[in-house]
Amino acid sequence: MPRDPRFDVLFEPVRIGPVTAPNRFYQVPHCTGMGYRRPETLASLREVKAEGGWGTVCTEYTSLHPTSDDEPFPSASLWDDADVARHALMVEKVHAHGALAGVELWHGGARSANHYSREAPIGPLSLPAGVRDPVQTRAMTRADIRAFRQWHVDAARRAQRAGFDIVYVYAAHHYLVHQFLAPSNRRSDEYGGSIENRARLLRELILDTKEAVGGTCAVAVRFSASLEGPDGERTDEPREMLELLGDLPDLWDITVHDYAREMGTSRFVPEAALESTMSWVKHVTGKPVVSVGRFTSPETMLRLVRQGVVDLIGAARPSIADPFLPRKIDEGREDEIRECIGCNICYTGDQTATPIRCTQNPTIGEEWRKGWHPDRIASKGSDARILVVGGGPAGLEAAVALGQRGYDVTLAEAQRTLGGRVALESALPGLAAWIRVRDWRLGRLAKLPNVAVYLESVVDAAQILEFRADHVVLATGARWRRDGIGRWRETAVPGWDAPWVVTPDDIMAGGSLPDGPTIVFDDDHYYLGGVIAEALQATGRDVTVVTPANEVSAWTSHTDEQFLIQRRLLDLGVRLETGSAVARVEEGGVILESVHTGSERTLPAAAVVMVTAREPQDALFHELGGRVAIERVGDCLAPGTIATAVYSGHRYARELDTQLPEPVGFRRE
Ligand code: ADP
Ligand code: SF4
Repeated sequence: MPRDPRFDVLFEPVRIGPVTAPNRFYQVPHCTGMGYRRPETLASLREVKAEGGWGTVCTEYTSLHPTSDDEPFPSASLWDDADVARHALMVEKVHAHGALAGVELWHGGARSANHYSREAPIGPLSLPAGVRDPVQTRAMTRADIRAFRQWHVDAARRAQRAGFDIVYVYAAHHYLVHQFLAPSNRRSDEYGGSIENRARLLRELILDTKEAVGGTCAVAVRFSASLEGPDGERTDEPREMLELLGDLPDLWDITVHDYAREMGTSRFVPEAALESTMSWVKHVTGKPVVSVGRFTSPETMLRLVRQGVVDLIGAARPSIADPFLPRKIDEGREDEIRECIGCNICYTGDQTATPIRCTQNPTIGEEWRKGWHPDRIASKGSDARILVVGGGPAGLEAAVALGQRGYDVTLAEAQRTLGGRVALESALPGLAAWIRVRDWRLGRLAKLPNVAVYLESVVDAAQILEFRADHVVLATGARWRRDGIGRWRETAVPGWDAPWVVTPDDIMAGGSLPDGPTIVFDDDHYYLGGVIAEALQATGRDVTVVTPANEVSAWTSHTDEQFLIQRRLLDLGVRLETGSAVARVEEGGVILESVHTGSERTLPAAAVVMVTAREPQDALFHELGGRVAIERVGDCLAPGTIATAVYSGHRYARELDTQLPEPVGFRRE
């Protein structure tokens, strides 16, 4: 299909200093959990974005000197010529598709504890360094500042040798240059105190970089349009600074002070959330501006360009969920855009120092090591007929990918609607956008005549045998345990079988609870315990979250939500009993034990919701094993995140009738 002419403006080239972006789609720097350790994996990941139509593709944060290392988090680096060769791999692949390649030169300053290089951290002042690491920075002398400027120039020259088109001066996200810009920079020399003094280093770095590489490379500045004020964020100071620097760089890449908003999950932050804070930027500079906002709607992109808020549509997550987003708009396939759901599973890669994953896009990170492509899949390897049982994220993804390969697929789902856990969970507070996991796959199924879908079809062993499929894919999911077994308890909680002890499955199925105080025992530590508590409190109940962790929804610190979740629960009046577990369920209440001291006390309760662990629904597998070719995928194989379920279904489909490298199954660097 041809492109809708309304979207032509998104495909206009944009001049950025000495280079020209072929269109307005700009993949801003984003971490991948790969960094300098996995250059081949990274180069192929970025290449796929360029192939998918992103006119500019940037690296992740790229350390410019050993005084800035982020171990255990794997940043990229441009410390020496060996690094140049690693980056050249990526640049070549990005250029092959006509896109520009950008590099985000990074110095963490006080944010880097330097566990790897063992250099003393540096900063404008001597203050605590790293993330609660018991080390402080050495306050930079004037000579240190001169040296730092030289390191930046040297790294910029290396970037130029690697072939990059855009070189960043990274002045946001509380890293070194930002530490100089911040009001907390109370240095008494010409680099601290007044706004002009605090902006001095940034000005010098822009000029240095332009002088060093400005002939061939554009110089971009990543800059925060706001800073923390007494009543939230304020923009007065950043505006004054930007007015001072206005047209010095070739491009402004604009963020905001609050990272939990910039990177916000859909549970807390809507699309285009930065607009109100940064829309002033284009009034004070004549240079192009790029900014992010989890943009998945071409209409929103169009509006922002038309209204002169940005020149380039910045994206990290939308480009991860769908590396082919621009190409789909270009080819009139907007309805095929695999929209980011705003869950931040991708960010957990960086936070846990592991390669990036995505709930919506199972191919991310697999481009090089498994040869998976986000928009192409190999044709079928046989004429096998396949029965997929269960239409949750795993079964849906398996059916779609098998269908795209051309197999004859039958998908049977017990319920009246598809989606499994996603259909249920997306009805809970804040999770509405998650239904995109189902809806994108329904859109694909509608175009696959070789996939037959049967709803309200509870499949049993006899039916499976009778169906005589060549392969059976069991995607029947998992159910929450009611007995309280989980991380904290290896044995059932005494009294768990009381009728007023329930599970999230009961609540999501619309089951009613006895009136009175309600306890949510969260030994799962991800989002669901907190969301269930929020949902129950909203019905006027008196809810207490009990968790063995020292904070609620502890794992959501990796999705950058923990603070927001705890605040929301407290604002709603939910009581929090951290560092505690349910020891026994008794008439009218529960006995709590402190995980620290073992001391016990009674809490009155009319209902208890156990959010501890799940049981795979795999009975059919055990019943049929050996009699048919049957494999489990998703939560039925091993309960996990929606991302692991989608991946599992996709993997089955990719690997059917293919020869895998032995014994590992993927290439390693
Ligand atoms: P996953 O996350 O692994 O996809 P879900 O729990 O989300 O797992 O989805 C499992 C789906 O399987 C649910 O929609 C459920 O209704 C369906 N299902 C479970 N058992 C059967 C069965 N015997 N026949 C058909 N569908 C089933
Ligand atoms: Fe979006 Fe979630 Fe994928 Fe990240 S993991 S890109 S937030 S869908």
